[in-house]
Amino acid sequence: MNTPDHLGHFGPYGGMYVPETLMYPLHELTREYERAKRDPAFRKELDYYLREYVGRPTQLWFAERMTKELGTAKIYLKREDLCHTGAHKINNCMGQILLAKRMGKKRIIAETGAGQHGVASATVAALFGMECVVYMGKVDMERQSLNVFRMRSLGAEVVPVTAGQQTLKEAISEAMRDWVTNVRTTHYILGTVLGAHPYPMMVRDFQSVIGREARRQILKKEGRLPSALVACVGGGSNAMGLFHAFVNDKKVQMIGVEAGGLGIKPGKHAARFAGGRLGVLQGTQTFVLQDKDGQIELTHSVSAGLDYAAVGPEHAWLRDQGRAEYSHIGDQEAVAAFDALGHWEGLLPAMESAHAVAYVIKHADRWKKKDIVIINLSGRGDKDVQQITEWKARKKEE
Ligand SMILES: *Cc1c(COP(=O)(O)O)cnc(C)c1O
Repeated sequence: MNTPDHLGHFGPYGGMYVPETLMYPLHELTREYERAKRDPAFRKELDYYLREYVGRPTQLWFAERMTKELGTAKIYLKREDLCHTGAHKINNCMGQILLAKRMGKKRIIAETGAGQHGVASATVAALFGMECVVYMGKVDMERQSLNVFRMRSLGAEVVPVTAGQQTLKEAISEAMRDWVTNVRTTHYILGTVLGAHPYPMMVRDFQSVIGREARRQILKKEGRLPSALVACVGGGSNAMGLFHAFVNDKKVQMIGVEAGGLGIKPGKHAARFAGGRLGVLQGTQTFVLQDKDGQIELTHSVSAGLDYAAVGPEHAWLRDQGRAEYSHIGDQEAVAAFDALGHWEGLLPAMESAHAVAYVIKHADRWKKKDIVIINLSGRGDKDVQQITEWKARKKEE
């Protein structure tokens, strides 16, 4: 149920919807990835870098004060915010850079929206002495100038993309164009469980270390599996990373939380399962926010990392089968959860992760005292302080 077919189909979703020129590099990548996955030396090398450089395993923290405040389930936080560079993205980047090295590639390209994936890509490229080019929408570069500074300090070239809305979607298109031209020397590190096969499967596999650790840790601490897993869903990589090791444990609820933004109206949110329908975007078939003519709709969220018009195809598949459920949380609830977790646990979550925290606060009544809930804290919130400050100032004016 959770392995796609050889063309990357998860049921009716996924696949390889790309121009002919991209088929060769994608097939080459798939072959190499399948080989690497079975090679004990590759796995050993990846384990080494995850442990010694990224800082794994990350802690599974019992949030005692949050648990008392909510008065229902016992809450645990999977601390991906403790990973080097401050989020889960580097788990995938580390896997892909080792694959690039194995394939003899010397140059890395990546796309980035908020800049977190760009920073993680620039970091691993520096570590392995590779050239790195990051495509970023010009609007995003202005909004996320701190991350632009970080990438450049790490030796990466950040290329402003000025087409269309000048945000993530256009940056991905530019990265694909570069890849077609330079595929002999270049590996494209895609940042989430989206795009054409093998990316949704490969990125999930590299992130699945999150769930494997969490499973082992909760069994050690509690002697049983959790009642529920809760994670925010942008493209869906931190959520798939947590869910994957539990997919066959039918009693474990899996809950994905999308960005409800300002409400479920066109252009005001990024909740693909609430306002989207089947479509194809940038290589994969999945739930897409689009108008009746198939034009991609604008999206909005207070959190840049959740702000994209399509969702990873495997999530659509899990949802069809009733194995996972999806909900959404608005900007205001997410900001409130950011403050709450800071006060209760001394932890400032990334605004993306704050959506998952907000879901558990809002729906705490779903669970009883005997239940255990694991929330994926996908990243830390330092990167968001400016945006939250501005958001609160605007709110006051209204
Ligand atoms: C990028 C990002 C996300 C969203 O991406 P997913 O692929 O859905 O995980 C969530 N949290 C943080 C901290 C991020 O940087």
